[in-house]
Amino acid sequence: MMEDKRGTEVWIDPEAVRANTRLFRDVVGSQVKVMAVVKADGYGHGALRVARAALEAGAGALGVATVLEGRALRDGGIDAPILVLGAVNAGEAEAALEMNLDVTVFHDAWWEALVRAAERLGRRVRVHLKVDTGMGRLGVTPAEALQIWVPRIVNHPLVKWQGLMSHLACSDVPDTLPTRQQLSQFLEVIEAIRASQTALPPDIHLANTAATLRFPGTHFTMVRVGLGLYGAVPYAGAPALTPALTWVSRVTQVKRVTHGFAIGYHHTYRAGADETIATVAVGYADGYRRALSNRAEVLIHGRRCPVVGRISMDQLTVRVPEGLAVQPGDVVVLAGRDGAAEVTMEELADWADTISYEMLTSISARVPRHWDRFQS
Ligand SMILES: *Cc1c(COP(=O)(O)O)cnc(C)c1O
Repeated sequence: MMEDKRGTEVWIDPEAVRANTRLFRDVVGSQVKVMAVVKADGYGHGALRVARAALEAGAGALGVATVLEGRALRDGGIDAPILVLGAVNAGEAEAALEMNLDVTVFHDAWWEALVRAAERLGRRVRVHLKVDTGMGRLGVTPAEALQIWVPRIVNHPLVKWQGLMSHLACSDVPDTLPTRQQLSQFLEVIEAIRASQTALPPDIHLANTAATLRFPGTHFTMVRVGLGLYGAVPYAGAPALTPALTWVSRVTQVKRVTHGFAIGYHHTYRAGADETIATVAVGYADGYRRALSNRAEVLIHGRRCPVVGRISMDQLTVRVPEGLAVQPGDVVVLAGRDGAAEVTMEELADWADTISYEMLTSISARVPRHWDRFQS
């Protein structure tokens, strides 16, 4: 395949993914399964490779958002359990069954499409019942779960009840009350199922990355870990994870400008003195968001250089500190380490007024991914 050679690239360290997976294995203990969440192409890192690394390090299942994402993993030879976490178009029910994907269930039309597909194919479908305990997104109410869904699932001969799940809305904020309330709702559902003499499914899961680390009571029999696998920090003060991704670009031109010289679209920056400006081969079409204009910093030769002027579609400009020798071709670290210096995804996200999840999944497809540790 032809690959872009500008030198704007992402490097992903497989050992970081493995180390992070092992850390979560240690946190939950041997009785609890770790589902590696690799939706959105593994949060921009490459789903297939992340999935392989996580499984090597002891993950027991994979989570994706769509049937197509599940297919990519199956086509890549992955035979571990894969759960489609998101809503599935009824027209994809057969495809999901044929690829042996687990699905979540939460409304009638989808249930009927699924059951019809199972009947047509003569195959059993593995379902996870999603209960809305306070996220307000997908899921049935606790009452619907008990009165309608659990009986419906356990009584259907072509349905295997694999999981009971819910999703937390506030596990990464300081206020723990919403999480405790959701947890107690979930526990009530579990208790009521037990009281009705119905066997619980093998996978009972509530926790994402932040909850896995902060609330051991949310582990049940499985945790769904996304962000932490990639080494991004889920909340301030979280245990030290290893960032898997380094995002680099290259200097394309270096120029000396005089005091007052204006840079970039709409002249949002003027040189405050005689300055050295380096142009860099990355822009918002690569996912280096325009909101970072005049806010972010990059690393060149281990030194922080401020982004000055508007970020363009394919380029940006930085001010080079006086005395730092920079030439076209030099490496620019956008996120990651350069010697002792580091720009974290969380910093980038803060500068762009967003979250690291969005920064990671915004790195666009034209940026080549290299599955190796970055060596500066
Ligand atoms: C994305 C997702 C996760 C993973 O969340 P992280 O915060 O990245 O760990 C877990 N569960 C569901 C349902 C998700 O959609």
